[in-house]
Amino acid sequence: MNKKIGMMLLSGALFSGSMYSCKSPEKQSQQKNDFQVSVDAFADLEILRYQVPGWDQLSLQQKTLAFYLYQAALSGRDIIYDQRGKYNLGIRKTLEAIFNNSKTDQSGADWDKFKTYAGRFWFSNGNHHHYSNDKFIPECSFEYFTNLVKACDEKELPLQEGETADTFLNRMKQVMFDPAFEPKMVNLTEGIDHVAKSSNNFYEGVTQKEVEDFYDTFPHTGQDPEWGLNSKVVKADGKVQEKVWKVGGMYGAAMEKMVAYLEKALPFAENEQQQKTLALLIEYYKTGDLKKWDEYNISWVQDTTSTIDFANGFIEVYNDAMGIKGSYEAVLSLRDFETTKRIKAIADQAQWFEDNSPLKPEHKKKIVKGISAKAITAIVEAGDAAPSTPIGINLPNSDWLRKEYGSKSVSLSNIIHAYNESSASSGFLDEFMNDKQKLERIKEYGNLGSDLHTDMHECIGHASGQINPGVATPDKTLKSYASCLEEARADLVALYYILDPKLVEIGVMPSLEVGKAEYDSYMMNGLMTQLTRLKLGDNIEESHMRNRALNAYWVYEHGKQDNVVEFVKENGKTYVQINDYDKLRVLFGDLLREIQRVKSEGDYEAGKNLVEHYGVKVDPELHKEVLDRYAKLNLKPYKGFIQPKLVAVEKDGEITDVKLEYPESLYEQMLGYGKEYSYLPVIN
Ligand SMILES: [Zn+2]
Repeated sequence: MNKKIGMMLLSGALFSGSMYSCKSPEKQSQQKNDFQVSVDAFADLEILRYQVPGWDQLSLQQKTLAFYLYQAALSGRDIIYDQRGKYNLGIRKTLEAIFNNSKTDQSGADWDKFKTYAGRFWFSNGNHHHYSNDKFIPECSFEYFTNLVKACDEKELPLQEGETADTFLNRMKQVMFDPAFEPKMVNLTEGIDHVAKSSNNFYEGVTQKEVEDFYDTFPHTGQDPEWGLNSKVVKADGKVQEKVWKVGGMYGAAMEKMVAYLEKALPFAENEQQQKTLALLIEYYKTGDLKKWDEYNISWVQDTTSTIDFANGFIEVYNDAMGIKGSYEAVLSLRDFETTKRIKAIADQAQWFEDNSPLKPEHKKKIVKGISAKAITAIVEAGDAAPSTPIGINLPNSDWLRKEYGSKSVSLSNIIHAYNESSASSGFLDEFMNDKQKLERIKEYGNLGSDLHTDMHECIGHASGQINPGVATPDKTLKSYASCLEEARADLVALYYILDPKLVEIGVMPSLEVGKAEYDSYMMNGLMTQLTRLKLGDNIEESHMRNRALNAYWVYEHGKQDNVVEFVKENGKTYVQINDYDKLRVLFGDLLREIQRVKSEGDYEAGKNLVEHYGVKVDPELHKEVLDRYAKLNLKPYKGFIQPKLVAVEKDGEITDVKLEYPESLYEQMLGYGKEYSYLPVIN
């Protein structure tokens, strides 16, 4: 499963609600600080770039392996367009013809509207919004579009046999300009035929009932492949059948290229396990046999040592209302050793953290084991994973495989950092922080503070504490409040320790300033800025938001006497101000002890009171102010990425180095991809 960010970015906040530039000391050596992350914006979209720290440290063998996997990833690019709609490749080739035509006048208000349409189209891999799945149409007139098309050389247009430019335009008018034609790519409205009413290209000429009946005939033993994952369902000669995506089958021309590059990658595999994994993927693409896909996944999960890793295949099923068909996606990555090392340094100290925590002795775990998470650095993403990207990946998707063989769960550190950095320069912090020094501190240490918070939340937070003998699990005792209280508890462990000299001692942060930056941002978010995600008049429902409000308002109330945290007003604007960081830490510890008690004893009433009193209600006046200030920032709700480019340096037909470039224009990248990786016919 992919963790994608959608509307969540409306708040400008990730995880703990922190957002800042990336200047942690260990990263400085690898990342260019003058690197421009945010490069373009149009419609509801912002275009970002990410860096690939660690690339230069790879061996030539690893770089060569990555280069071929990169080519394989991009070679499947056409597939996602066709999957999202059978007319998409035709539209894309038309856009390419217009952009590549030297006679096109690329200026004026009409051109700007057309260009925005093209940008949206490329961003969404088709003419349905990447997030809402609703069709969007050009804002320029059809007449203007007609002139653009007619100025093109007919050879460059995706004309069907016997078609003239005029008949072609007539056809494209409906496809591109009629909002009522194929209005939804995925339609989940209750009571309708989800197959017939969704315009994606996974099914044709069949009803939902026919598809259900068809897949009912496949064996269901509990250890079956993901039937139907790699095919389109059609009716031919009155019979429902599959057109399988494989070499020699549907999408064969692109998959042949993918296989060719995977075969080139094979001799450069880092170890036998990875070689076996690649070979299985090749076999699967050649045969379309889903049992091979399972074998591939098992082998991939067992490869835990390679530096270069990849996901490549028909994987996520969100684009299909039936949840059967996998969208093509590829993510190529290298292991983020820095982050993985940092997480391990924390996990290794799990017992120390438990022994020294503010919990009551009887609620402490006698033996605690930290959970080791992994982080990766994306090198390139393609298909459904680009330009809009996941921030975490947890694969394989097959339930029985996960149970029997486990899964790999990773976060994409460099993508997360790019998101954070774009938020830092968005004007958001400048609007909501009045103290210049604290603002600078967040810009310097906030990224690391947020990372450490997440690391501790995951590695030692959830793992800490124990339930009293005879008390049932929280889902039984604390019921609907269990998950909010559990998240609050894990956050509090992180908050308590982020101001502990122990973290400096074990080398994961340079000074306590990191912890103070995290306190500033956590309190600002919990008391105030996370409200940007709520509509006026709504209560807080989502459990992570509830837990942050609970933690922030509880310590605010309990520290009021000593003025530990206060709301200050300046020029009619409200700001959160922390006056005593050490006392605040003690308060976080007090609340942690109390919430652990609630969990250990299964004290439903106390748990309910905590959440209802501090985590749910919203001050309408403050909420309105926050929303007004946020609206003025005019931030784009959706973000996506331009991909780095790998360029092979060759001598006598052999790769001697692979250089990494960071292109600056989404448009140029898309046109370049169109020239280099167009393998499929317009109609598949
Ligand atoms: Zn959690």
